[in-house]
Amino acid sequence: MNRTVRILDTIETMYPDAKTELNFNNLYELCIAVILSAQSTDLSVNKVTPDLFSTYPDVHHLAKAKLSDVEYLLKTIGLYRSKAKNIIEFSNQVIHNFNGEIPDNIDDLIQLAGVGRKTANVVVSEHFNIPAIAVDTHVERVSKRLKIVYERYNVLETEKRLMRAIPKDRWRQAHHSFILFGRYTCKAIKPDCQSCPLQDECKYYTKHYK
Ligand code: SF4
Repeated sequence: MNRTVRILDTIETMYPDAKTELNFNNLYELCIAVILSAQSTDLSVNKVTPDLFSTYPDVHHLAKAKLSDVEYLLKTIGLYRSKAKNIIEFSNQVIHNFNGEIPDNIDDLIQLAGVGRKTANVVVSEHFNIPAIAVDTHVERVSKRLKIVYERYNVLETEKRLMRAIPKDRWRQAHHSFILFGRYTCKAIKPDCQSCPLQDECKYYTKHYK
């Protein structure tokens, strides 16, 4: 068993059944929620999406929305102005470029407004059950502190390294487990190192406590 898988086993033991904390009911809502979650907490996104989705229940309604109305609904989350613009543009692009059907693959998804590689990976993994590892800020930080990837690695290099080290049938769960571990234990500021079972594997712990 390789070192990354051993680390993953430990993290999965800490966070069994890890799954996304975003609320959504269908592919459209998933895409919009993930776009809105960039640099915002899932909790803050979950507070704005009920009104957003009841006002604009699909891409056809959202494509026709007035920008200021959408901005108003999103005003409590970070970067709300650009996110409002992006989700309206996203809806128009889905209608005009993909006949109203949200695409099922990463190459097409990343053509859409507001959709980067991380968002596309989350969407294909969550909705289409296609194995993928979405690297967000938590996955990246945990991977670097635990020396799974080099500090200099960018998001794509991190994603590729994780995909090589972790068996494909575990990619989806690994993504969720790393996120919860990063969100609640290996936090960016003041990580809970004293209760962490991965101290011996950790660069951050060695630097700060040894
Ligand atoms: S020891 Fe601390 S920094 Fe290292 S993985 Fe655990 S919580 Fe994160």
